[in-house]
Amino acid sequence: MLDTLFSVKDHVVLITGGSRGIGKELASAFASRSARVIIAGRNKETLNKAANEINTSSNSVSSEVCDVSRSDDVEALVDSVMSQYGKIDTLVSVAGVNKRMKAEAYTEEDYDSITNINAKGAWIVAQTVGRQMITQGSGSIINVDSLNTYAPLRGTTPYAMSKASVLMMTRGLANEWGRHGVRVNSIAPGFILTDLTKKVWADETMKAWGKTNTPLERLGTVSDLIGAAIFLASDASQFMTGQTLRVDGGFTAGINWPIDL
Ligand code: NAP
Repeated sequence: MLDTLFSVKDHVVLITGGSRGIGKELASAFASRSARVIIAGRNKETLNKAANEINTSSNSVSSEVCDVSRSDDVEALVDSVMSQYGKIDTLVSVAGVNKRMKAEAYTEEDYDSITNINAKGAWIVAQTVGRQMITQGSGSIINVDSLNTYAPLRGTTPYAMSKASVLMMTRGLANEWGRHGVRVNSIAPGFILTDLTKKVWADETMKAWGKTNTPLERLGTVSDLIGAAIFLASDASQFMTGQTLRVDGGFTAGINWPIDL
């Protein structure tokens, strides 16, 4: 018997930050499971390249230019998706940025650029898509927060603040929109190798630290997040809302000794 519990076949899935890294991998994962996928990002060329790489004869991914920190862009994105597809079953809100430095060194512009995308942008996207899902009476929103919502890593305070905001938004919207059939959850990835993080993990000391502190003894890959995303988008999670799935190899499960015990 074919198990349809985890099916996303024919679901309309909108993925912000879908042009590379985690978002692109999730776009490919949904498309290969016969979902109709739209990826969004700020750069047309990168989006087209990503869509072409994902596309096969049996699944097609479309792309839309959108800066999530601009409400007019997000309105235009949702209007365009609605006119082409008629509904949005799942929003995967991946777009995000980080800048690591000492807290005392951040400029106001640095702070604004991080929080405008990660916190305000995630809010604008969730609110705009959420209005549509409320009208539909159904939908699943999957936000992306971070290890930093558990404990901030040194040198990332504005990023950690922005991701804590995503965590609270997830719970708040879940609380408000459950009555409309709209579920809101988040995925908190551990250390995943992508453009956002590859510089930091190129350092051998960092690699060793990451491995020692991760019970599963490796850094994550973008494909490690597929299972959680498909689960949260599908009927398999139909009684779950306001929750965070930590996909971090166990990093947040405990604290390790620097000696072999
Ligand atoms: P990435 O490789 O740098 O990709 C970021 C994506 O977001 C790109 O598609 C980028 O496209 C898009 N983006 C950035 N700003 C945007 C904006 N204003 N509007 C629309 N799209 C925007 O990063 P990643 O490592 O895949 O991370 C993706 C998400 O996972 C982020 O929210 C990040 O905080 C979170 N995360 C990552 C890790 C990790 O270890 N990698 C761990 C925890 C959480 P353009 O630049 O072309 O717009």
